[in-house]
Amino acid sequence: MTSNARVVVIGAGLAGVRLARRLGELGLSASDVVLVGEEEHRPYNRVLLAEVLAGRYAPEVIALPTPDRLVRARAEHIDRADRTVHCSDGSAIRFETLVLATGSNPVLPPLRGLFTPDHELPEGVHAFRTMDDCLGLSKAVRPGARVVVIGGGLLGVSAARALAVRGAQVVLAQQGERLMERQLDPGASALVLRHLNELGVEVHTECRVRDVRCVGGRVRSVELADHYALDADLVVLACGVHPRVGLARDAGLAVHKGILVDDELRTSDPHIRALGDCSQHQGTIYGLATPALEQANVLAELIASEAGASGAATARYTGTRALTRLTLTDFTADTGNPFDLAAFGEPTPRPGDDVIQLADATRGTYRKVVVRDDRLVGGVLVGELGTVGALARAWEGAEPLPTDGGPLLHLLTNDGGS
Ligand SMILES: Cc1cc2nc3c(=O)[nH]c(=O)nc-3n(C[C@H](O)[C@H](O)[C@H](O)COP(=O)(O)OP(=O)(O)OC[C@H]3O[C@@H](n4cnc5c(N)ncnc54)[C@H](O)[C@@H]3O)c2cc1C
Repeated sequence: MTSNARVVVIGAGLAGVRLARRLGELGLSASDVVLVGEEEHRPYNRVLLAEVLAGRYAPEVIALPTPDRLVRARAEHIDRADRTVHCSDGSAIRFETLVLATGSNPVLPPLRGLFTPDHELPEGVHAFRTMDDCLGLSKAVRPGARVVVIGGGLLGVSAARALAVRGAQVVLAQQGERLMERQLDPGASALVLRHLNELGVEVHTECRVRDVRCVGGRVRSVELADHYALDADLVVLACGVHPRVGLARDAGLAVHKGILVDDELRTSDPHIRALGDCSQHQGTIYGLATPALEQANVLAELIASEAGASGAATARYTGTRALTRLTLTDFTADTGNPFDLAAFGEPTPRPGDDVIQLADATRGTYRKVVVRDDRLVGGVLVGELGTVGALARAWEGAEPLPTDGGPLLHLLTNDGGS
């Protein structure tokens, strides 16, 4: 059966759901907007999956408001000439505007033994991207289970800590020199390492996993490049993500790593827009929540204006200065140290940059900002985030800072500033 909609959004994740909601707020009627989502769960906030895995939140706590017209199916084909999307449930939807919000897929690293002869992951090996991944892991983990997490970025750190909280014996294998290299400088990485150690997680850096060993289709161990074997009941793959672009590519849209979009989030087809993790804007693929939500807000204004629901739209997306925030509070109650982390911009200085740093090893707090040509270019805060709001505003504004350093130090220490 074929239906019609003014706007069809493919992907009911953070970006797609925010877009649908904003379009409603800007005057489009519920019947104007159809959201196509393949996951069987109610739309949810992916950023909070680790809290579900840790047992802190029930899945329904992280649910997002469900839009009125939600088609639970996979969009399989875009017919651009006919402006129609064909779905896995046999339905077809004609659109005036199509929006791709298809997100990312986990990177599956090239490890020997990672796939069964049927090209499935062996029993006990899990990615960590979807609610199904999270519930599958949650069901499989037991106190004392031996878990190897492969990857020491934001995702691997979140997964390792959640599984340790569930009582598993966790080993984290990180190929790079330190944890969360993309966001953190060495000082802050060291504090994250200490925090994980306190939770009982064993961290191996500069450690390359080579092989996944299975018996009877079930994982038993992973082998490292130096031939050392780690016994494993469960393996979590946290090796990054890549934008999900298959549908766009098959439809002949311009794709580099992500789907190429301009400042109006328009793809190479003027009737098709893209946003969130699947899109690439001015060479950047963000892969983070804040840019996805900002893009959704801008796109909603543009589409509402084109639909005549609001006045002329001047909104443009010109990029996001993304602040990464990781909250690990509450789980360290036994150590007495709450653990919160925020990083923005470039926390590692270049030669000639000024650095202001305050560290308190006993309390596990660390604050550092990098200043270049009198402008704040990056920073990292661990343990106490009272100043993060004021610092982020100074960074986002990119205004010249006072030159004597005093007020800047004040920014680092004035906890009322957030
Ligand atoms: C465990 C975890 C923790 C994270 N923590 C943070 C964090 O602390 N901070 C941060 O900024 N970011 C974090 N992220 C990243 C953040 O979740 C993403 O940047 C954000 O979800 C992007 O939103 P999106 O809507 O573009 O994609 P997604 O939220 O991935 O949504 C895309 C949706 O589209 C669906 N879909 C794809 N193709 C089709 C199709 N053909 N038909 C129908 N449906 C389709 C997918 O199933 C999915 O539901 C985390 C991610 C994970 C997995």
